[in-house]
Amino acid sequence: MGLAASRCLNARSIDHVVLERGEVANSWRRERWDSLRLLTPNWQSRLPGFQYEGTDPDGYMTMREVIAFISRFAVWSGAPVRTGTTVTCAKRTDAGYELATTTGPLRCRTLVIASGACNLPSVPSLHQAMPPSVQSFTPFSYRNPNDLPDGGVLVVGASATGVQLADEILRSGRPVTLSVGEHVRLPRTYRGHDVLWWMDVSGVWNQRSDEVDDLTRVRRLPSPQLIGTPERATLDLNTLSSAGAEIVGRLATVRNGEALFSGGLRNQFALADLKMNRLLGTFDEWARSQAREAEVGTLERFEPTRAPEPSRLKLDLRNGEFRSIVWATGFRPDYSWLDVPVIDEKGHLRHDGGVVDAPGLYALGLPFLRRRKSTFIYGAEDDARDIVDHLATYLATAVHRGAGL
Ligand SMILES: Cc1cc2nc3c(=O)[nH]c(=O)nc-3n(C[C@H](O)[C@H](O)[C@H](O)COP(=O)(O)OP(=O)(O)OC[C@H]3O[C@@H](n4cnc5c(N)ncnc54)[C@H](O)[C@@H]3O)c2cc1C
Repeated sequence: MGLAASRCLNARSIDHVVLERGEVANSWRRERWDSLRLLTPNWQSRLPGFQYEGTDPDGYMTMREVIAFISRFAVWSGAPVRTGTTVTCAKRTDAGYELATTTGPLRCRTLVIASGACNLPSVPSLHQAMPPSVQSFTPFSYRNPNDLPDGGVLVVGASATGVQLADEILRSGRPVTLSVGEHVRLPRTYRGHDVLWWMDVSGVWNQRSDEVDDLTRVRRLPSPQLIGTPERATLDLNTLSSAGAEIVGRLATVRNGEALFSGGLRNQFALADLKMNRLLGTFDEWARSQAREAEVGTLERFEPTRAPEPSRLKLDLRNGEFRSIVWATGFRPDYSWLDVPVIDEKGHLRHDGGVVDAPGLYALGLPFLRRRKSTFIYGAEDDARDIVDHLATYLATAVHRGAGL
């Protein structure tokens, strides 16, 4: 997102620098597991003025390809990136912001926080109650199934990361139990097109933050159960249970070496199925009302999610059945370096569409920042343009007032 902002700043001749603690595309280089591919199709890999030009627009990039794509963009756009520079502190001054970095101090009139929404794995505090015989992993420490000890694996969380890792670990021959809480079910393809094509053409992907009823809730929605594979396969709970995964409810607590799970899987599944079908209904309505029926396949509906009968409510973590646990329980940003009072009591940045609650301070790359697609590469262009428009006006007004110069 920082590179997208840089491109928009360049277009307006606004002097700037992009600070990066590692290398360009650092999180794709350092913080992803080996087999990961984007779950967004190649044609959605685009940045301001730059897009995928390969021969497989409907494919999904490997990490190597993502790194190459972003690195090419950085060179092409001439972004003034200062790599190996960690911002350790940002403070507000009368003139703007003062940064402490590992390569020296910096001052700026405006600051765009593009440090990512997924800097740290978000692991519930009950991990501390896990018996020592069970080794804990997060999506940051897990690279491939060979990292895991032999034996059963409990994967906690069934959003994009959880289902992808459960699938891969299962294929390695280890028994997998998957703990499922609230989740978003989506088929990979619908009526002959990628589900994200439907999201795009029907306007769902572009839905703006001022068009949703409960912004706080949608900002916390888990990522959809999707995987990018050459086969364009759907990966949902039915697929995983058919492949042998045991499905249990949400992990409620760990007590005396036992993991206790919520019941109510049936309701959880019914809700996810209902929401998926509602979304597919929106797509059908779009195709009908826009007279696009000829371009898409016939109507499809999917088997409801099968609930295990009964699901285990309790697992003994000390009897040797489970040797490892993978916490696929989400990610969170790291604002430990930001010494400006703009973080609420839940640790979220206070902002309105990326305009942060402090003069000249902006953010990019957060869930539903301005649009549903905001947290994806595909959302970078529109959001960066809007934010830089606001920033340019802010600077012009500040110049006009003679403030902070
Ligand atoms: C497992 C996973 C899978 C994903 N899959 C997809 C996908 O399929 N398609 C998609 O579009 N999106 C996907 N995303 C979302 C993806 O992270 C975003 O699309 C994109 O990376 C957001 O870019 P960003 O610049 O906001 O954050 P990042 O890519 O995280 O970049 C932030 C940068 O800031 C640097 N940084 C952080 N703190 C500091 C500091 N204090 N000082 C200096 N530098 C700092 C980091 O090193 C990093 O390079 C996925 C995310 C995860 C976690």
